[in-house]
Amino acid sequence: MMTVAIVGAGIAGRLLAWRLAKLGYRVELFDKNKRDDECACSFAAAGILSPLAELEMAEPDIYQYGSRSMKLYQEWLPQLTQDVFFKVTGSLVTAHGSDKIELDHFYRQVQRKTRELKIVEAELKSETIEKVSVETIEPELAHLGQGLYIPSEGQIDPIELLKALAFEIDNSVNVNWHNQAEVSNVSAHKLKCGSESLTFDWVFDCRGLGAKGDLPLRAVRGELLWLESKDVNIKHLTRLIHPRYRIYVVPRPNDIYLVGATEIQSEDFSPVSVRSSLELLSAAYSVHRGFGEARIVKSVVNCRPALTDNLPLIDTTFGLTRVNGLYRHGILMSPAVIEKAIREFKHISNHDLEKVQHAN
Ligand SMILES: Cc1cc2nc3c(=O)[nH]c(=O)nc-3n(C[C@H](O)[C@H](O)[C@H](O)COP(=O)(O)OP(=O)(O)OC[C@H]3O[C@@H](n4cnc5c(N)ncnc54)[C@H](O)[C@@H]3O)c2cc1C
Repeated sequence: MMTVAIVGAGIAGRLLAWRLAKLGYRVELFDKNKRDDECACSFAAAGILSPLAELEMAEPDIYQYGSRSMKLYQEWLPQLTQDVFFKVTGSLVTAHGSDKIELDHFYRQVQRKTRELKIVEAELKSETIEKVSVETIEPELAHLGQGLYIPSEGQIDPIELLKALAFEIDNSVNVNWHNQAEVSNVSAHKLKCGSESLTFDWVFDCRGLGAKGDLPLRAVRGELLWLESKDVNIKHLTRLIHPRYRIYVVPRPNDIYLVGATEIQSEDFSPVSVRSSLELLSAAYSVHRGFGEARIVKSVVNCRPALTDNLPLIDTTFGLTRVNGLYRHGILMSPAVIEKAIREFKHISNHDLEKVQHAN
């Protein structure tokens, strides 16, 4: 049986460990933190799953990975023992009257990019953007007038997902989880953890920003507020388009709404700033006055791992696969990124095995 090491137990590392263990590989999973510390960037995410809306600002690759992941989530989540909050009830994109020109721009950009993508007819049918009167989707947001509705989009609870994956990993005879195991060096077949130099059939590097010494990564700070409100009844993931910033409101069970997220080019993990709080909260209040009496029950800060082109990296050479650069879309893209990483790993490792066998 092949033994692989995975360094990093964020969304990428956990999904990879789970899928490889299911395929029969022996997995050694290393993370510098304790399993339940919730320090990884993945724990901060809002869990927005909106490949089409992201097309406005993102590269087509993000859409491709995202839309494949939507299918994989539907296939993979039922295989988990624990339930994970996952909904595909559509997303709403809207703007205030004075910013409606921004909404038109958003619509045109996404339409143009979908045409360029040459999405096949069947796929395009399920990937529509409908021009709607906002009140038909969210009656309490009628004051926003016109909006866009994207039925194929949704959301997931990343914390529940990470915990459900940890449960599978803990209960798998194929995985060994090394807590508080900081890896100082990662290379093909090898890693260094503390004073030990370890050798494996394959190494996967999923350290996010922890791989900065080996990859040209930059940190993009994100701040997010969790609000609790009994005066608000919003059911769909709602984005507010604004000339200076984009905010979203993500409804969760038990009257919880996530409002986020800032995007600041900085590796700063300090608490949420006053400026960011003001921006996020005033935008939320402008979406629904009921947020005026909401309680701020949690504030979240973390830094996203981004590469220079803002695209995900899956880099496979013999003995080493690096998965990184998940930036703003790690939860959205991870299933498809992991699927591709495993495909490349199997291809290269089998190919090389064949070469060795021929040489013998
Ligand atoms: C506020 C905010 C909101 C977001 N919202 C969304 C969203 O709605 N949808 C979406 O798709 N994405 C979202 N994201 C982005 C998403 O969170 C990231 O893309 C994703 O978490 C990156 O996952 P990862 O596994 O690559 O890295 P991480 O989650 O950072 O995991 C890396 C792991 O490696 C470990 N590690 C690092 N160095 C070492 C070392 N030397 N030795 C051992 N272990 C090490 C770390 O402890 C960590 O556990 C959001 C991000 C932020 C900050």
